[in-house]
Amino acid sequence: MTSPVWHPFTQHGLNEPIPHIVRAEGAVLHLANGATLIDGISSWWVTTHGHCHPRIAAAIGRQAAQLDQLIFAGYTHGPAEEVARGLIDLAPCADGQPALKHVFYSDSGSTAVEVALKMALGYWHNLALDGREEVRSRILVLEHSYHGDTIGAMSVGARGVYNAAWAPLLFDVDTIPFPAHDREQACLDALEAACAQKPAAFIVEPLILGAGGMLVYSAPLLREMAAICRRHGVLFIADEVMTGWGRTGTLFACEQAGIVPDIMAVAKGITGGAIPLAATLATAPIFDAHRSTDRARLFYHSSSYTANAIACAAAAANLAIWREEDVLGRIAALAEGMATRLDELARHPAFAHPRQLGAIAAIDLVAPDAGYLSDLAPRLRAFFLERGLLLRPLGNTIYLMPPYCVDADQLDSLFAALHAAGEIFGAQP
Ligand SMILES: *Cc1c(COP(=O)(O)O)cnc(C)c1O
Repeated sequence: MTSPVWHPFTQHGLNEPIPHIVRAEGAVLHLANGATLIDGISSWWVTTHGHCHPRIAAAIGRQAAQLDQLIFAGYTHGPAEEVARGLIDLAPCADGQPALKHVFYSDSGSTAVEVALKMALGYWHNLALDGREEVRSRILVLEHSYHGDTIGAMSVGARGVYNAAWAPLLFDVDTIPFPAHDREQACLDALEAACAQKPAAFIVEPLILGAGGMLVYSAPLLREMAAICRRHGVLFIADEVMTGWGRTGTLFACEQAGIVPDIMAVAKGITGGAIPLAATLATAPIFDAHRSTDRARLFYHSSSYTANAIACAAAAANLAIWREEDVLGRIAALAEGMATRLDELARHPAFAHPRQLGAIAAIDLVAPDAGYLSDLAPRLRAFFLERGLLLRPLGNTIYLMPPYCVDADQLDSLFAALHAAGEIFGAQP
């Protein structure tokens, strides 16, 4: 019987197997037929502590029985208040004081980015109403970026085969070259020149570009980019949707550069990966530009499930885990385990460009045909699936981003499979 389900990022015409998962625990997924898979990519970067974490699952159960959903325009509830305060305390600080002071909820990373862009343009729009500033509306983006799949989020992301059909709907942006090692100064010079044109904002994935191929750049460079924006009064938007919640070795990647963005988008791991929720954090000037007795200046954005109480309760449980457990210690140990194994793997001639940031490790497979639409990635996916592993390479880039509970044996299985993939799919020297 064929399924009526239309899957995301899936070419149904290729008839690839679609495993049916019935249960999950820690880093392991259980299939209907009794087989298991190690989740090597945290179910697309969302699961942090592990699947079905007991504290988060219990919080969801309790909240579902007490208050499930509430209109959030003009009403509030305990879990939303608690999570907002918790986010402000945990977010990057300026001189030890919270600087991101306002929290706007939504439901996905893409919508958190849309909200960030709307806040930035709303800020300039409202300042212009007062005659305090000229209207600014252009957005600067980093080459190879990914910020989500809604129209605004696609507009600020890299263009390619995955959004060509919608090119007519996407708005124009100015692209700053990615700061690869030999192009750091070119990146900063381009940013300086673009900022002089008075754009509204610059949006970046801090320290590592995820979907663009796990491309890493340095903390000092991120710091310098933020400083250039500040000098020109250009709003700095950090998309921490993937980098947040410990992936890069700190709770948020911006901490490593010692910067506080004007606007910060978080999602994915905010509930530990159990249920959708997102938040866009903003500094006081962004909020104050919308605060007035004039109803025309309020922030016109909402979705039905804004700050869903069950999702907020899951996020509150996740924040409690972060406060009470040594999650960063666990991530540091995991990162060390990944580093030794990655070093070993990098000696294999089929691999190049090993890179790691916190609990994210990536390496390129040197293969004869490695473009985005080559069939290498699906063949690798099938190869890993046969070995009981959920991995999803980006073209010829194979990466691991496991939940933090993954153990040494599971890491060994993951790296052994990468080694085997090098043997089978790598170019013959
Ligand atoms: C995944 C991702 C998004 C989009 O998040 P969704 O929840 O999938 O909409 C946005 N930005 C970055 C950096 C991401 O990795």
